[in-house]
Amino acid sequence: MSALLPTYARSDLSFARGEGAFLFDESGERYLDFSSGIAVTALGHAHPRLLEALNEQAQKVWHVSNLYGIAEQERLGRRLCEATFADRVFFANSGAEAVEAAIKCARRYHFANGAPERYRLITFEGAFHGRTLATIAAGGQAKHLEGFGPPVDGFDQVAGFDIDAVKGAITEETAGVLLEPIMGEGGMREAPYRFLQELRTLCDEHGLLLVFDEVQSGVGRTGRLYAHEWAEITPDIMSSAKGLGGGFPVGACLTTEVVGQAMVPGTHGSTFGGNPLAMAVGNALLDVVLEPGFLEHVAQMGLKLKQRLAGIADEHNEIIAEVRGQGLMTGLQCKPQNTHLVSALRERGLLTVPAGDNVVRLLPPLIVEEEEIDLATRTIDAACASLRSS
Ligand SMILES: *Cc1c(COP(=O)(O)O)cnc(C)c1O
Repeated sequence: MSALLPTYARSDLSFARGEGAFLFDESGERYLDFSSGIAVTALGHAHPRLLEALNEQAQKVWHVSNLYGIAEQERLGRRLCEATFADRVFFANSGAEAVEAAIKCARRYHFANGAPERYRLITFEGAFHGRTLATIAAGGQAKHLEGFGPPVDGFDQVAGFDIDAVKGAITEETAGVLLEPIMGEGGMREAPYRFLQELRTLCDEHGLLLVFDEVQSGVGRTGRLYAHEWAEITPDIMSSAKGLGGGFPVGACLTTEVVGQAMVPGTHGSTFGGNPLAMAVGNALLDVVLEPGFLEHVAQMGLKLKQRLAGIADEHNEIIAEVRGQGLMTGLQCKPQNTHLVSALRERGLLTVPAGDNVVRLLPPLIVEEEEIDLATRTIDAACASLRSS
């Protein structure tokens, strides 16, 4: 019997090492990793630049309290601000913590501006924001809330990407709107650009904060540094994590200056957040992602992948209903149960992740090359053929 809490339905697979887009199990069997630890290992496994940064920092200092200056943290914060809408950054260790910080920032902004009654956020059905008590309330999914007592108050959920529904949900207590530009766990569902633009306008009209959860869609995953850039608008607050440390736990909450100003000393904190090891890796990751051509490569590989998948979906239309997503954040909506396709792919050496709405997620590392996309799509083709004949 395992000593671990049985919170995960784990497969029997475990891996001994990884290299680039591949993982190797204990017996040396090779798997093409199109799950990337669920959009985490952005530069694949054992990327030399990340290894070097981690090893180098490990020789110097691992951890100091945020009561002292942390040069690598200042540097990563400054670079994230230069590359985005943001003026201020708070570092955390996970996605849920980054969203939790975003929720606190939204509430505190209105408090600091003399409107403490404005604490509620409008959220969306099918969203996923993490597994803390506040973030399960924000996600609003019954299966995540069940058995954990009264949900944290302060979230009003609307259905669909429907601007009138959002308008109808605004009250004097509304602080802002929280959403993923592309719902990851919810099934790679993209909010239309037009809807995001309308949200920005609506927020401006009502003095509301627009809060994006880019924990999954950020750090280059869609071919832009953050997915909302495609819609040519900016949020007031944004959470980032998953790919940000390339496998080292790093989360961040980014804000504009007016929002950031409200988070005065003592309002928030994290012992490990922005730790020197995490920041050294984050800086090395950003070095690579911000290199000229890198995001173009992601967009190009995403296009190739999507084209191939569209062909496969045509041919196996009794297995695949729809191809979704942007860049290397792609999904296949299935007709049979999505987990059947995930298993059939795993048996053939391709790792993918199930999502809501009966979707199989394909999240290759951003360094993926065309040959690996070829290998993956051949495998998907074969798995679809086998599901069809079974
Ligand atoms: C994964 C995810 C989270 C939660 O991140 P953790 O690191 O697991 O806490 C939050 N929001 C989105 C959009 C995610 O995809």
